[in-house]
Amino acid sequence: MDSVSFPYDAPVSQTLFDRASLVTPGGVNSPVRAFRAVGGTPRFMVSGTGPYLTDADGREYVDLVCSWGPMILGHAHPEVTAAVQEAVARGTSFGTPGEGEVALAEEIVARVAPVEQVRLVSSGTEATMSAIRLARGFTGRAKVIKFAGCYHGHVDALLAAAGSGVATFGLPDTPGVTGAQAGDTIVLPYNDADAVRAAFRAHPGEIACVITEASPGNMGVVPPLPGFNQSLKDVCAENGALYISDEVMTGFRTSKAGWFGVDGVVPDLMTFGKVMGGGFPAAAFGGRADVMGHLAPAGPVYQAGTLSGNPVATAAGLAQLRLLDDAAYEKVDAVSAAVRGLVTDALAKEGVAHRLQSASNMFSVFFTDGEVRDYEDAKRQEAFRFNAFFHSMLSQGVYLPPSAFESWFVSTAHDDAAVERIAAALPAAARAAAEATA
Ligand code: PLP
Repeated sequence: MDSVSFPYDAPVSQTLFDRASLVTPGGVNSPVRAFRAVGGTPRFMVSGTGPYLTDADGREYVDLVCSWGPMILGHAHPEVTAAVQEAVARGTSFGTPGEGEVALAEEIVARVAPVEQVRLVSSGTEATMSAIRLARGFTGRAKVIKFAGCYHGHVDALLAAAGSGVATFGLPDTPGVTGAQAGDTIVLPYNDADAVRAAFRAHPGEIACVITEASPGNMGVVPPLPGFNQSLKDVCAENGALYISDEVMTGFRTSKAGWFGVDGVVPDLMTFGKVMGGGFPAAAFGGRADVMGHLAPAGPVYQAGTLSGNPVATAAGLAQLRLLDDAAYEKVDAVSAAVRGLVTDALAKEGVAHRLQSASNMFSVFFTDGEVRDYEDAKRQEAFRFNAFFHSMLSQGVYLPPSAFESWFVSTAHDDAAVERIAAALPAAARAAAEATA
């Protein structure tokens, strides 16, 4: 980080961060927000409109994080905001069933064919945790296969070799997760179908499920090789295990039907979050009706939540999903392609070795010249170049994920003016990346 300079300070954010650090561990409520990997002061945001965020020092940024995926229509979309205001005025939580949750469940079932039934929860972590419990309850088996570099939330059993913040900080297995909790987790290299088959041979009749990000975005963007997801589905079907596709990040983002809409591989269970909550805490898991029928109160596998299906969250999610028609995805895909082109041109001009990888409209830059197929490849990149690049972009009013191991996100609100601002910032950022030293 020595070579990274922080071109300007952010005094109000710094004061807030100092206050926060006294009362909250590390000053943040989710680790990657703290800027530890890139250095400097995390920006405290006070408002967002369309593609822009404004921080507590009054500086505006083009937002390429979009709240880590959810804000696919940009910030404060008027129709989503109106739906939320209407819902709030009717009361914020009843602890009873309500029509909004039925409508949101129907929307999900209508969009994603493999989902016959769905249960709403409040976070992606809850969704994957519940899906794993259900898979274990349904199969009567204990073991779970996951892939290094995939992140499924901070579920104890799934933190082994996880992506996202765990990758950003290079953490080994997290203290606090006991051997018993992680002992049934088999971690395999991503995109290695042979390793999965070998694991099934080594543990006959013991594996409840394989969980994978539908197309990983938590070690940077590393799409599945052609046929990889289908091979997971096949090996699960042959061995009586369930194939769980985690679409918390890709769901309703990479297409109307998420990554399923791109590769068509039919999972037994799927998990969702982010976009479906419209910026509120709403998530879900769903899939085969015979499997979902094992959930309480229909079946014996317990799962519950005081705020599950919250009326404000479901109103926001439903309003957002209803606005996400074919034209919206075309727009997001086009913006993504434009930004990708600009980034790679700018880096190439400065002779910076890089690889820009995308999965539909999700994308990220690896500062390496080889193909990135798994977590080991991702870790080989020169992350110090990203840090210099990040700070140059930040100083010029472009907010990137503060980590080289995260996807970038755009929205329908990223118009020509926003893209031009990104274009204007890139030459200096590319130069900073070229000049960076470890
Ligand atoms: N699964 C995936 C693929 C994710 O990207 C995330 C979060 O980034 C999660 C699960 C966890 O979701 P949440 O942060 O809502 O708990």
